[in-house]
Amino acid sequence: MKVKVIMNPVAGRGKAQKVKPLLLETLRGYGCDFHFEETERPHHATEIAQKSVKSGFDLIMVAGGDGTINQVVNGMAGSNIPLGIIACGTGNDFAAALGMPPDPVASIRQIMEGEIQKIDLCRVNDRYFVSSAGAGFDGEVAYNVNQGFRWVRGMTAYLLGAIKTLFSYKPRRIKLTIDGLVMEFDATLVAVTNAPTYGGGFKVNPEARLNDGLLDICAAQAMSIPGILCCLPLVMVGRHQGLKKVRMFKGRNITLESEQLLHLQLDGEVLTDKKLHFVVLPQALLIKGSKLEPVPYFDLLADKPACAREA
Ligand SMILES: [Mg+2]
Repeated sequence: MKVKVIMNPVAGRGKAQKVKPLLLETLRGYGCDFHFEETERPHHATEIAQKSVKSGFDLIMVAGGDGTINQVVNGMAGSNIPLGIIACGTGNDFAAALGMPPDPVASIRQIMEGEIQKIDLCRVNDRYFVSSAGAGFDGEVAYNVNQGFRWVRGMTAYLLGAIKTLFSYKPRRIKLTIDGLVMEFDATLVAVTNAPTYGGGFKVNPEARLNDGLLDICAAQAMSIPGILCCLPLVMVGRHQGLKKVRMFKGRNITLESEQLLHLQLDGEVLTDKKLHFVVLPQALLIKGSKLEPVPYFDLLADKPACAREA
């Protein structure tokens, strides 16, 4: 078996780099023909993944955070090559949703010895994502982190970005369409996700599943700063569904539009546009070693409009 390993050496504040010798030793133990490559610049992981597809690898492993995984998926989507996830980032929400262990060596064992499962791949405009996308407050935080806090990393950068955004964020009028159901409101946040958590464990869409053929949407109306601060602890434990200004939906075809430019965080990467069109591509990504429960047959057959699915 020909295996490509793509590692982001700066993921998780150097966690990947630290475990590299152990990873290589574990891979050698399996006696497979593996080729190891580290990313050297932004979006390099996409280029490496594209080349790996052309070179005929049987398996691509990625050691990094959700941002690196996003880049790899954008380079290999549609290829039919299975992907293995070695969690080395700060948040690792996608790895957790797949049932991958936090220990990188245990992850390699689970990938090498595990079965291949199919999960849904998500697309917004012309970019793929696997875990989460968030516009509004969340997208502004990601944008501010990318713009102004490059000198710090990880959670500190995110926290500084969140504080800056908290005082500068103005809720904006958006038009949200979910499978034909149209809503217009001043939004604090619209999160479209396929994984139940993001941002390192925040349970934004606690009922989301990676393999149910649906996207989960959490839409929050305009809130004051104290309102946002009160809401955060509830989001951490996934108990925000009952809040007056929060609505949860499931859907397959989602459009988010605004008069102004919207910053969208996409597995931690940033995309900016005035119109964002989300679709889900059921069973379009192969994952090796994941431990997902199959989705009940009747859930897969359900084809109700978004309004009927409102939580
Ligand atoms: Mg889903």
